[in-house]
Amino acid sequence: MEQQNHSEEIQELRFQLEEAQETINAIRTGQVDALVVKDTDGHQLYTLKTADQTYRVFIEKMSEGAVTINRDGIILYCNTRFAVMANTPLEKAIGAPLETFVPAGSKDSLEKIINNGWEEDCRQEILLKDGDGKDMHCLFSCNTIELDTGAALSIIITDLSVLKDTEKQLQQRNEQLEESRANTEKLNNTLEATVKERTHDLVISREHFKLLTNNIVQMTWTNLPDGNVNSYNQRWYDYTGKDFETTGGFGWKELVHPEDLEETAKKYYASLESGEMFEVENRYRRHDGVYRWHLNRSRPLRNDAGEIIFWVGTATDIEDQKREMDRKDEFIGIASHELKTPLTSLKGYLQLIEGYKQEELPPTVKQYIGKAGVSINKLQSLINDLLDVSKIKAGRLEYALADVNITDLVNQCIENAEHVFPSYQFEKQIAGNYIVKGNTERLEQVLMNLLNNAVKYSQTNKTVIIAVQERDNNVRISVTDRGIGLSKDQQSRIFERFYRVEDKKNMTSGLGMGLYISHEIISNHNGTIGVESEAGQGSTFYFELPLV
Ligand code: ADP
Repeated sequence: MEQQNHSEEIQELRFQLEEAQETINAIRTGQVDALVVKDTDGHQLYTLKTADQTYRVFIEKMSEGAVTINRDGIILYCNTRFAVMANTPLEKAIGAPLETFVPAGSKDSLEKIINNGWEEDCRQEILLKDGDGKDMHCLFSCNTIELDTGAALSIIITDLSVLKDTEKQLQQRNEQLEESRANTEKLNNTLEATVKERTHDLVISREHFKLLTNNIVQMTWTNLPDGNVNSYNQRWYDYTGKDFETTGGFGWKELVHPEDLEETAKKYYASLESGEMFEVENRYRRHDGVYRWHLNRSRPLRNDAGEIIFWVGTATDIEDQKREMDRKDEFIGIASHELKTPLTSLKGYLQLIEGYKQEELPPTVKQYIGKAGVSINKLQSLINDLLDVSKIKAGRLEYALADVNITDLVNQCIENAEHVFPSYQFEKQIAGNYIVKGNTERLEQVLMNLLNNAVKYSQTNKTVIIAVQERDNNVRISVTDRGIGLSKDQQSRIFERFYRVEDKKNMTSGLGMGLYISHEIISNHNGTIGVESEAGQGSTFYFELPLV
């Protein structure tokens, strides 16, 4: 009987427990707003202030944790979000002390904020244990609320970890930004300093250039790749008496002597086209109307890519030198004439002595006469050269033209050379017969000059090769030696009047007239003369004449 009573009691208690459980769920989900509770004083009605359905849904759905605690710090209520944050099942969280969910180091802070919270609304950052040993930064906002059962403290817990992470990232980004900003500033400062330095250098070098150009005796100019002159030095304005307005661009043409303008312009445009140095002699009109000869030279300035930026030119006054040259030419003309007459008589008398038959000449005297004859011949050829030079200058180097057999002429010259220079070997390379229109004596003079030079400038290797061949309707006669040779620079000048290579080691006699005269003769034959050579390796001098 007693056992049956017991089991009925247990059954009743289980029933009550289930009922309590259901009631709690009903309260949580807002299915009930009031409860009728039976206690020792009979039935009592409890209305639930927090039971408002709308607010309950808000609280359940919000992303913050919500906790209500009593004076003892026991959790009376919490939402699902808090249970997730604390990594604890909801039913275990309710009824547990809140401090269970904060790490040991934060317990004091929690106590303080709770005590404070009972006094007034407050908020503070506190760490929350999430059960995995990782602590979570949270913001606790406390408010007291009045429940029917007495005062309770409601705490809204906001997870700050994402915010903290973002803050951290933001800080890192800020630091990176600050670093980049500092680097940029540094770079900017360096750049500014460099620009300042360069500008300073530029100003100095521009002033340097100006000072230099204004102080040299030459007139200078700079022109753009299209030929327009964009600056002159002070000397130009002083000399011409004109300003930049009238002489800039192509205004300088007005100041060139009309007779020199065509050649000047031709060479100017050719240089702009080819990028090669511009060089021409011409006359510029001075402010008083007098023309003076100038030597113009201009070179291009290129950038790293090899493109021309501008040209720098100089015009040097050569009027005085020109006059000196003219006087020299005049003197050479007169002197060679004056020398020619006594020389001719000297030669005549020598021939008379040689042919004197009345008594036999002693052998020594005969020998002297022979030597005197050689010297007189040398003298005569020198005087002839001098006469030729002055004739060329005066434009009077004239001679009759006829058909000339080049093969015969070459054979004749080689024979002469073999006679005069017996220690040398002259190798012939001739095939065929070539006829040109020309003057035999003058062409012989050219070839003999080349053979003489070949001997004179190859004292060690004594072989000279003479070749005759046809080339594009021309006959080309060349003389090759294995002597001292010529550098590129020297090659460009050897056909000038009186030019001789200054070589202390290989000093030979001569006046630098032979090649000048030869050049003139060949040009008058509508031919070309030139040289191929390498210093120390020997030279090949050649001339080409149009075949008949
Ligand atoms: P020169 O009377 O001085 O020989 P040329 O007009 O014949 O005058 O020659 C001019 C210059 O050219 C010479 O002084 C010499 O320096 C150089 N030259 C001429 N021919 C040769 C050659 N075959 N080898 C080397 N240099 C030469």
